[in-house]
Amino acid sequence: MSLVGLIWVSAELWQSTFTADAQEADAPAADVNAAPPSTPWESASFPVENFVAYTSPFGYRNHPFGGRRFHYGLDIAAPMGSYIRSWWEGTVSRVSDNTACGTGIVIESHGWVHIYCHMQGHVVVETDGDRWLVDHDGGIQIRQGDLVKSGQRIGRVGMTGSTTGPHLHWGMKYQGSWVDPTVVLKAMMEK
Ligand SMILES: [Zn+2]
Repeated sequence: MSLVGLIWVSAELWQSTFTADAQEADAPAADVNAAPPSTPWESASFPVENFVAYTSPFGYRNHPFGGRRFHYGLDIAAPMGSYIRSWWEGTVSRVSDNTACGTGIVIESHGWVHIYCHMQGHVVVETDGDRWLVDHDGGIQIRQGDLVKSGQRIGRVGMTGSTTGPHLHWGMKYQGSWVDPTVVLKAMMEK
């Protein structure tokens, strides 16, 4: 099966299995169908280059470090050091490190916010206040405020922050509300 087919099938399966749970729990998720029909998802990119598996869906789960919490994103396992790509063109609104997200980047695109966590590298703050995400070994240097293209390499899979294995935590918001990334992937594949 092609990667595209695999992604589509996975999204279908997950959608059917955990939508019910999320609705039951009155999850604070947006309706992705509220997005403008003209949304040019044809140009959007799958966020990892070396997909292995979806390891934790969007929604309530038993947290590995205790308790039952809402998971505001999709975990995508990928080999340590493999590249992460920006889902869509946009502006880097935040680079950060030393939080549960680890080394992370937030990108804003046409009403959407997409969040990438547990990456390699760290944040460098220059004397003039410029904030850079720097991953020397991966050849990544991205400044907060810069524009990135759809599919541009923005970092590499790592284990920074709160994580038990190398994966990308991928979060999405549309007009301020959390969205299940699998719904977005499914919509991309249907275009
Ligand atoms: Zn996660």
